[in-house]
Amino acid sequence: MSDSRSGAWRCMVCGYIHRQSAAPDECPICGAAKSYFEAMATEAPIKAEFDARTANFSGNLVVLGAGIAGISAVEAFRKATSGGTVTLITKESSLPYYRLNLTRYLAGEIGNDELPIHDRAWYDSNNVDLKLGEEVADISLGDRRVIMRDGSGMPFDRLIITIGAHPFVPPLAGAHREGVTALRTLHDARLMLKQLRPGMTCAVVGGGILGLEAAGALAARGAGVSVIEGGEWLMPRQLNKRAGEILLKHVNGLGIKVVSNARTKELIGDERVMGVLMEDGRQIPADLVVVATGVRPNSQLARRAGLAVKTGVIVDNHLRSSHPSVYAAGDVAEHMGVLYGNWTACQYQGGIAGINAAGGDAEFGGIPRSNSLKVLGLELSSIGKFEPDGPECMVLESESDGEYIRFVFKDRQMIGAVLIGDAAVSLAAKDAIEGRKDFSGVLAKDASAAQVAEGLRTT
Ligand SMILES: Cc1cc2nc3c(=O)[nH]c(=O)nc-3n(C[C@H](O)[C@H](O)[C@H](O)COP(=O)(O)OP(=O)(O)OC[C@H]3O[C@@H](n4cnc5c(N)ncnc54)[C@H](O)[C@@H]3O)c2cc1C
Repeated sequence: MSDSRSGAWRCMVCGYIHRQSAAPDECPICGAAKSYFEAMATEAPIKAEFDARTANFSGNLVVLGAGIAGISAVEAFRKATSGGTVTLITKESSLPYYRLNLTRYLAGEIGNDELPIHDRAWYDSNNVDLKLGEEVADISLGDRRVIMRDGSGMPFDRLIITIGAHPFVPPLAGAHREGVTALRTLHDARLMLKQLRPGMTCAVVGGGILGLEAAGALAARGAGVSVIEGGEWLMPRQLNKRAGEILLKHVNGLGIKVVSNARTKELIGDERVMGVLMEDGRQIPADLVVVATGVRPNSQLARRAGLAVKTGVIVDNHLRSSHPSVYAAGDVAEHMGVLYGNWTACQYQGGIAGINAAGGDAEFGGIPRSNSLKVLGLELSSIGKFEPDGPECMVLESESDGEYIRFVFKDRQMIGAVLIGDAAVSLAAKDAIEGRKDFSGVLAKDASAAQVAEGLRTT
């Protein structure tokens, strides 16, 4: 870890910014170890050309959705200007919270008090009108109004859409049964906790990050847990096969069973679920089934309003939608064909949309996708591309004492890394990938993966 010139440190897992001379021993937000903190060269979490004189907006800003993208938008807007009015709307009834910490909450690692991003007083003192438990039914671009579920309207001069995503539940027979759930909201987590009983069996359909974290959390609560993954190995969208095998060993060590190459046919039971039936006839008993098979952006409102939508709401580098006064950010937004679906990207995008809505000029240039695991007690990161995407690519790999390193290079630059067991290298690799660091010197010497890692560790 290098020095922080600004006295600010960013948690690589959740994006939390710690404004002290040293990184904390543990992230107060997501629990990541000290080694996951990167020194920030400047305090600003985003690259932005922002001139306070351009923050001349004095109309109504309405932000739809109070997840991390909506909160970051409001924070950036208010940092830029104290003018105008800001209304932040969410259909959830709890104070906006750290969604990525729901698995830690489910595991019992954190309590209710640690979930809110800000306390109620923060909204008042920042002149933000927070509307909880209110659902938006429509957006009327013609007369610039947001129509609420009760039929009332709210005018806006600028609008930021940050309504996130919803769990994708495949059309499985029995998905309606009691005891079948997804994990997206605090409400979902609380319902799961209410149902947990000693000795209970749980099945998680989907061996991606969310499925594994949910499985880890349920196992930590004493449940017998099976994970059902359709692919050949765990986290197939983030890990190569060998990394998936190492992860499997760790997950099995926690008492979690994993069934791979398994197609779920039906969630069997009566009113309540009793198990999962696979296409090959195998059955896994379960009193609770968590379906973690991905998310889809909540793009319907924007589509109906006439905004350009592909899978998500199409945005340009300024996070502006096809309407000049409407921005979108976070899980609902699609930038250059990419739906990021992770916390850090939502936070960056929300901040940029907020600055621009205030009259600033900030651009989002895209960031490499990166993912880390929480809850399972394994330091694992996947950054950028984990498989080569052409003959000009080169892969370096090494494995020893529970550590696994894999780097993917293209045109002398690192374009991806999978790292198990060494968070310090993850951070340096992320910086190298984001900063397009030139590795030609190292590669010319036929360096091994371990040597590249050592080089990164000491930079
Ligand atoms: C359990 C869990 C763990 C995760 N862990 C990680 C992790 O470790 N690392 C990581 O990078 N990512 C993680 N993620 C993903 C990450 O949390 C999301 O990418 C991010 O929170 C999305 O933020 P968002 O602001 O775009 O949307 P959301 O957080 O989904 O917020 C959307 C908001 O819009 C509101 N809304 C929706 N429709 C309407 C409507 N019609 N009217 C009014 N309000 C509406 C919702 O109530 C909500 O407030 C995790 C996700 C989950 C569910």
